[in-house]
Amino acid sequence: MNPIKSSDRQTIDIDSEKEKFDDFHEHIHLPGFIQPHGVLLVLEEPSLKIVQASNNTSIFFDVPPEQLLNRSLSKFLPRTQLRNLKKIVERNDFDMLNFAKLRLKKEDEYLFLDGILHRNPDGFLILELEQSTYRNDMDFLGFYNSLRSAAAKIQKTANLQEMYGAIVREVRKLVKCDRVMVYKYDRNWNGEVVAEDKRDDLEPFLRLHYPDADTKPCRDLYAEHWLRLIVDVNAKSADLIPLHHPKNNAPLNLGNSVLRGFSPCHQEYLQNMGVCSTLVMPVKQSKKLWGLISCHHYTPKHVSYELRQACEFLSQIASSELVMKAEAEDYDYQIQLKSVQAKLTEYMSIEENFVKGLIEDKPNILDLVNATGVAIYWQDEFTTIGNVPETSDLESLIVWLRNNVREEFLETDSLSNLYPEAEKYKDIASGLLAISILPKNYILWFRPEFIQTVNWAGNPNQAIVEEVDSEGVIRLTPRGSFEVWKEIVHLKSLPWKLCEVEAAKDLRRAIINIALRQADEQAKLARELKRSNDDLEKFAYVASHDLQEPLNLVSSYVQLLEMRYRDRLGDDAKEFISFAVDGVSHMQALIDDLLAYSRVGTQKKKFVEVKIEDVLNRACWNLQTKINENEAEIVQDRLPSVLGDRIQLVQVFQNLIGNAIKFRGQESPQIQIEVQQRKEDYLFSVCDNGIGIDPQFRDRIFTIFQRLHSRDEYPGTGIGLALCKKIIERHGGTIWFESELGKGSTFYFTISLSSQTE
Ligand code: ADP
Repeated sequence: MNPIKSSDRQTIDIDSEKEKFDDFHEHIHLPGFIQPHGVLLVLEEPSLKIVQASNNTSIFFDVPPEQLLNRSLSKFLPRTQLRNLKKIVERNDFDMLNFAKLRLKKEDEYLFLDGILHRNPDGFLILELEQSTYRNDMDFLGFYNSLRSAAAKIQKTANLQEMYGAIVREVRKLVKCDRVMVYKYDRNWNGEVVAEDKRDDLEPFLRLHYPDADTKPCRDLYAEHWLRLIVDVNAKSADLIPLHHPKNNAPLNLGNSVLRGFSPCHQEYLQNMGVCSTLVMPVKQSKKLWGLISCHHYTPKHVSYELRQACEFLSQIASSELVMKAEAEDYDYQIQLKSVQAKLTEYMSIEENFVKGLIEDKPNILDLVNATGVAIYWQDEFTTIGNVPETSDLESLIVWLRNNVREEFLETDSLSNLYPEAEKYKDIASGLLAISILPKNYILWFRPEFIQTVNWAGNPNQAIVEEVDSEGVIRLTPRGSFEVWKEIVHLKSLPWKLCEVEAAKDLRRAIINIALRQADEQAKLARELKRSNDDLEKFAYVASHDLQEPLNLVSSYVQLLEMRYRDRLGDDAKEFISFAVDGVSHMQALIDDLLAYSRVGTQKKKFVEVKIEDVLNRACWNLQTKINENEAEIVQDRLPSVLGDRIQLVQVFQNLIGNAIKFRGQESPQIQIEVQQRKEDYLFSVCDNGIGIDPQFRDRIFTIFQRLHSRDEYPGTGIGLALCKKIIERHGGTIWFESELGKGSTFYFTISLSSQTE
């Protein structure tokens, strides 16, 4: 046994291998020779004149091939048999009916032959003759029963592995050969022996892997046909005479021939394995080649036409059973995945944002495909659970996916093979299952590296090599040794199962539906909110505007009452009147503020260039009395010009400076106004040395009518900061504060340089 080696298989030059095998493939159809146990005749229609023959005709005919050529077949076959052949040709249904039993007199003996007719891809009629080893007088019923019982045993098995076992046993019983194997392809067309029945003394091949190159040349043929027999790999082949068909002057296409010769490379391959005769049948899953049933015999072996038909029938049964059993396999797991999928869909549709629905409950998106980590990339943000690569690595992976994977979906158990950068996080993400959800957004599931040992039948890196012989001709040579070659496979995860891949695809469909619906709902909600805000603003404006007049009336008459009847009123009445005057003036302040607030949205002025210096002067002018009363000191930076609404900006500064004075501490107010130009905006700050604000009210104080103090302590309406917020947002900025109780406050706000948000 070879020493353990680590994998280096990626060094195979796939393109040159492919070219080699494309040449080889041509050759397979056009070998120019056949296996010598039978005779091949090419017949002209309708005369049935022999235009080509294999050079071994004397095994069945009294005459050599040269004497058969250009003569009608009728000269050599009894009339009744010729009639049978003609019937087949006339019906032109070679798929169903292409076989006739023939009896030929050679010297004094009768030969019983099987005549197999077909038309080749060029339309030429080909008759192939083989010695019949099964005779009509044999026990047909017994044969039928043994075939029926074999089919029943294959069908009765409970699962795939049992079925493989039944196939190899039943086929071996029928064919009576030394070894029968079921050979299953993986996604890269490497094969693995998954079941075997053999002579006890032979070395087992079970679980051995065979590289893609071993079967590549003939896979296309197996996809079309149901059987291939090589009777004796060591026998000298029989050439065709003449080599070219007279009509097209080209080598005869033997793609559908039962006697077709085999390539020297394949001959050497079997010889190196010590095999003398093979019978191979394809197993197909939904018309696609899934694997092979391969019979080996170590001495020459002819399998009769009837037995071959029986084997073909069994491989067809195996193929149809395979589809059903593969679907039933993992049935419980599939049901489990379906239920995870249903739950995730439900969670997603309840949540406002579907991403939450995928990760926050149990089961979550990891359970859908049995992954160890998942990253959801949605609207430029990653949400992850489990073990995932670093964010910067995830970002690069997304860029790679966008540039390199056109499909909506990628599944690999060896990410670093496609994207070498992934090798550095192989322990987290050797396997990747990626789906794109709407353009540029992805869900990525990860699986870690899973180091495996694969037993190859011989070194897979030297499966078939190119050799140049002494005459300079390139020849393909199979490896000489089939000794077990152990490969330690690195950088691979456990493969994603088909049902997991399907579950991911189904989830993608669900996400797209839900995400689109949510986006639609959000847009609708935003539209409705805007409409109701607009209505509210209009209402507030109209209400406050219309309230002003009656309120002024109340105010005037209460004041009149007080003036005119001052002498006649008792102390109580005077107090009541002063309450009423207070209430009215508070209500007036409220209405003024509310009007200002609603005007921000309803009476928008076009933005113009505004000097903040002027704005500040105006605000201070409005606050002059308060500034003087409190001996407030205001210092300021050099202030810029911005694009904006002058009156509204005066309101902002007036409110902030007014608050800084109103919420003063023991010392006289010191107010500092600074500005900083940044990339996209100006950052203004208004800093005071007042009573400060508890930071927990960060959001509350910007909400309309929210105050932290009673009106007895500090007068106010609770509208000022809400108004500032609204104005600043209209100017494309944000507003916030930093403060500590007793240590003053700084209010920050930004104004966009472009003020595009207006
Ligand atoms: P008003 O000043 O009319 O009460 P505002 O919306 O302007 O309403 O302010 C809301 C609340 O935020 C105020 O009641 C006050 O408690 C607090 N506040 C605002 N500015 C300051 C400040 N500079 N210092 C301390 N507290 C402040």
